[in-house]
Amino acid sequence: MCTIHSVLVFAVVAATSFPPAHVLESCPSADHDCHGHDTFKSRWNMSASNLIKDLDQFSVSCKKLIESFPVDEVDGNFVRTVKNCIFSKSIPTPLKGPLRLAAVSKDVIEGILDLDLAATQSDDFLNYASGNRLLQGSVPLAHRYGGHQFGYWAGQLGDGRAHSLGQYTNRKGEVWELQLKGSGKTPYSRSGDGRAVIRSSVREFLCSEAMFSLGVPTSRAASLVVSEEPVFRDQFYNGNMKTERGAVVLRLAKSWFRIGSLEILSQSGEVDLLRKLLDFVIKEHFTSIDSDEPDKYLVFYSTVVNETAHLIAHWMSVGFAHGVCNTDNFSLLSITIDYGPFGFMESYNPDFVPNTSDDAGRYRIGAQADVGLFNLEKLLVALNPVLSRKQQREAKMILKGYGEIYQFRIQQLFKAKLGLLGEEEEDDGYLIAFLLKMMEDTRSDFTMTFRQLSEVSDQQLHHWNFTQMWALEDLSSHELFSDWLNLYLLRLSRQQNEGEVDRQNRMKNVNPRYVLRNWMAESAIRKAENNDFSEVELLHRILSSPFVTQETAEEAGYAARPPQWARRVKVSCSS
Ligand code: AMP
Ligand code: MG
Repeated sequence: MCTIHSVLVFAVVAATSFPPAHVLESCPSADHDCHGHDTFKSRWNMSASNLIKDLDQFSVSCKKLIESFPVDEVDGNFVRTVKNCIFSKSIPTPLKGPLRLAAVSKDVIEGILDLDLAATQSDDFLNYASGNRLLQGSVPLAHRYGGHQFGYWAGQLGDGRAHSLGQYTNRKGEVWELQLKGSGKTPYSRSGDGRAVIRSSVREFLCSEAMFSLGVPTSRAASLVVSEEPVFRDQFYNGNMKTERGAVVLRLAKSWFRIGSLEILSQSGEVDLLRKLLDFVIKEHFTSIDSDEPDKYLVFYSTVVNETAHLIAHWMSVGFAHGVCNTDNFSLLSITIDYGPFGFMESYNPDFVPNTSDDAGRYRIGAQADVGLFNLEKLLVALNPVLSRKQQREAKMILKGYGEIYQFRIQQLFKAKLGLLGEEEEDDGYLIAFLLKMMEDTRSDFTMTFRQLSEVSDQQLHHWNFTQMWALEDLSSHELFSDWLNLYLLRLSRQQNEGEVDRQNRMKNVNPRYVLRNWMAESAIRKAENNDFSEVELLHRILSSPFVTQETAEEAGYAARPPQWARRVKVSCSS
C-alpha cells in the first residue's frame, strides 16, 4: 500500500462507483436556485407560511445538556482551571452598539431554525444574535475541552469566546446546538478578550455556508452581527497592533464536541465523566450503535476513524486547507468546525500552507491526511481508559485501516472529478497522479483545471482547443500533456454508454466553478470593515450554488485568473 503522503501527492489507487456529494440532476440554466437542495427547498417552501414570525415564539433548551452532565459549580466569567464538569455557565458580554446585522443565511434561518426571514430584521434578533439578550430557555454554557495544538498537549482550552445558547429541535425533528462566537469572556478565555473581529467572522460566516453548498460536512452559520466595539489585534504578530471591531457569528452544529472534549477528561483522570460524555455522544449522535453493545466505544472509534478519513478526503477534493488541524478543532461528528486561517488552494501545490503563522507548514494541505491520523491516535489515547486491553489492540488495528479508507475515498472523489466510470483502478490511479503532477509542475489552478475539464467538449479536447480556458491553457503547456490527454481520451472512449453532455454534467456537479478564494474574502472584508456588506452578500449568494455558472460571478471575475494582488493576501491565527 502507498503511504498516505504519496497518495496525497500523486493521488490514489482503487475505487468503486461514486455517489456525488452534491447531486445536480439536470440544471439547464444559470438559475441560482438550481442546485442540489432543490427538492428540500421546494418541500420547505410549501410550509413557508408556517415559519415563526415573532421571536417570542422561538426558544431553545439547555435542559438535556445541563441534566446530562455536572456543571461547573463556580459562577462568573473569570479565568480558572475547571475540573469534573463538561460545561460552565457563562453569560455573554454585550457588545457595544450600534449593532448591525451584516449577513444572514436564509437557508439556515428558514430551513433549520424555522424562522421567517423577516424576523431577523428586528432589534430582538440583533440582540439575540449578538449575545446582548438571551433567547427564551437559554442557559448559556461554555464547554470545557483541551487539545493537542501543533503536536503538543496544550492543557485546558475550552470555549474562550463562544457561548452555547442551547438546543433547538426543528420541525424536521433535527436537533441543533446554537452557539455565539465572539460573545465575550468565559472561564476558558485564558489571556484572550473573548472577542472575534469582523474579518475572521466574515470568513467563518461565508466559509461554513460555502462548504455546506459544496457538500462538505460542516457547522453552519445563521447570522453575522458587527459592532462598534474596539478590539485590538496584532494581525501578523509583528508589533503592528491595530484597532478593529468586534463581531459575532451565530453558528450551529448538531454537536460541538471535539476530540479535545474527551482528551481533557482522560488527561485529568476523570474516567467516569469520560464514560458519561461518550455514552451521551453515542446515544445522541451515533444512533446505529446499541448502548448495550459491549464494544460500543470501539464501534464509536471505528466510525470516527472512517468519517474523519472521509472528511479529509472531501477537503482535498475541493482544495480546502483547514489551517489549524489541532485536536480541539476536530469534531467528534467529523464535520468541519472552527474556521480560522483556512484557504482554498489556487495553484496546485501539496505544500500550500494557508496560515502564515504556521512556519513549519505542519498543516499544509498535503499533510492533512497524516494530521488526521495523528489526531485519531490522540483520540485513541483518550479512549484507552474505557477500553479493555483486547479492545485497545483492536482499536489500533482499526486505526491502521485509516490510510486505506482515505485512499479508497480519495480515489472515488478524484475519479468523479475526472468523470471516470467503472473500475479500472490501477490505470485510473495513474491517470489522476499524472494529472496532479502536471498541475504541480505548471502551477495550474486546482479548482478551474477540474472545472474546465468538465466544461470542455470532447472535440475541444481532441483539438487542444482551450480558448478562454485559462487553467487548461496553463496545464497544456506541460511537455507531457499530450501523453496524458491521449490516455484520458482513450479512457473516456471506453465509457461507451454515455454522451459527452452526460460526462460534462456529471463532472460539473462535483467540480465547483466558485470557491471562497482568500482574495475574494479579503475584498469583501475590506468593504465590510467600512460597513458595506454588499460583497459579503454577493459571495454568500454565489457560493450557495458553486456548481452553477452565474453571470454576476463571472462579472466579478470569480472564475477568472486571480488578480496579481491575490498573492499578497495573508491570513494568520489572529482572529
Ligand atoms: P482557535 O484557534 O480559534 O481554535 O482557538 C483556540 C483556543 O483559544 C480556544 O480555546 C478558543 O476559545 C481560544 N481563543 C481564541 N481566541 C480567543 C479570544 N479572543 N478570547 C478568548 N479565547 C480565545
Ligand atoms: Mg478552535
